Amino acid sequence: MLDLGALDKISGGAMPSKDLATQQFLRYLHFRFSFIEDLTKLLRGSLKMRNTGKHEPIPKGTTILESVPFVYCLKSSFRRELCDFCLKANSNLRKCLGCMVVSYCGRVCQREGWKDHKGECKNFVRVKPNVPTDSVRLIARLILKLQVINGYILLLSNFQQKSLNNYREEVIYRKEIKEDTKRMEYFMTICGVLNEYLSNEILPNSVELLGIYGRMCINSFNILNGEMQAIGTGIYLAPSILDHSCSPNAVATFDGFKLRIQLTQELPKLEWDSIRISYIDLMNSKSHRKKELKDRYYFDCDCPRCKNDDIDCYHYAAKCPTCQKPVIAKVDLDVCKLCIAKQENLFHDLCLVRSKIMDAAFDSAIQLQLWEAAIQYGIPLIQAYKLWYGEEHPLTAILLLKLFKITLLISTTNDSVAQKYYEEAAKILEITHGRDSSFYRQEVKPLIRQLR
Ligand SMILES: [Zn+2]
Ligand SMILES: [Zn+2]
Ligand SMILES: [Zn+2]
Ligand SMILES: [Zn+2]
Repeated sequence: MLDLGALDKISGGAMPSKDLATQQFLRYLHFRFSFIEDLTKLLRGSLKMRNTGKHEPIPKGTTILESVPFVYCLKSSFRRELCDFCLKANSNLRKCLGCMVVSYCGRVCQREGWKDHKGECKNFVRVKPNVPTDSVRLIARLILKLQVINGYILLLSNFQQKSLNNYREEVIYRKEIKEDTKRMEYFMTICGVLNEYLSNEILPNSVELLGIYGRMCINSFNILNGEMQAIGTGIYLAPSILDHSCSPNAVATFDGFKLRIQLTQELPKLEWDSIRISYIDLMNSKSHRKKELKDRYYFDCDCPRCKNDDIDCYHYAAKCPTCQKPVIAKVDLDVCKLCIAKQENLFHDLCLVRSKIMDAAFDSAIQLQLWEAAIQYGIPLIQAYKLWYGEEHPLTAILLLKLFKITLLISTTNDSVAQKYYEEAAKILEITHGRDSSFYRQEVKPLIRQLR
């Protein structure tokens, strides 16, 4: 791991020859951003990168980038369970005595959190009993932080939309967001609330504010817990330049608020412009994915998976009775136990629509504690997840861990099946989260003790 603080030295001219990863990253930033000097100042201390040898292939499971957010917020629905600073669960949270809105594990987290909470705490008190929504809170944190570093313009020039590297595209993007009526309406609401919530602060003008808002929409990451539930939103400057692909070679996972980019495919060498993560849920058809990317990120996906139709034949896929291959079918599907049983021989196991139904059935069976049924719905999902999400994805691991727990619950003697689920899940999580991540160490590793 290498501290990016070294970037400053590099841009100053003294380029240490060993830091190849840093050099490559710097070159990549140069290519993408013209105001590199300012950007490196922003990035200083906010991320770590892997340092690799020149000819060394990089195995999957490698952490290639680790980054702390520029700003982030805990989702308000988790305020009673999770610490506002470290985002970890704590049964003994203590409220901030200033505003009584946010809570912390203890003194250490409160002190660390105060840097970002100081500016908002007094405003929380002033607008009581109202509490700003999560997006207002995030954009306000962004504004307050930018005031501290005096950097609206800095942000506007550097913090660009992905896949944009020239002025013409920038203009198109501005036009797109202005024509996006839903987002613009939401933006106007946010402006209204912001004016009240931050009435004592000097706010950026509306053009600057729109720029900040647009970048916030496009560059924010959902912060996920181990179960892949969104527990917060964060803006990570360096990772936000990574482009999207529907067949990514890397995945973003989180350790508290710390974001990690983990390689899910081996790379011959580290080239930053070849790193792709996914911005969206990949268990969807091509047209669905393309529309979502266009609506939310304003670009047309031309990734290899969107260019060919290999997997799309599984969208509505019936099973050919003779050769078992998928055959296109267009029908409406119902979700009841009887219907799922009826569909069994009709639909291909990997059919997208059927898999989504099985997914829902799996979750409801767990809710209702119908363990046998859950197992029955869950098992075919393993292959479907691998097809839609790629061979190694955290969601597949979470599915396998659920199957592991359920299998242990219902089988009284034979643990070998459960063990198989556990081992496969652990292997994936070693790649997507890393052996040294706290999720792996504290929540996954100890599960093995449940095997008899
Ligand atoms: Zn904490
Ligand atoms: Zn407070
Ligand atoms: Zn795509
Ligand atoms: Zn056939």
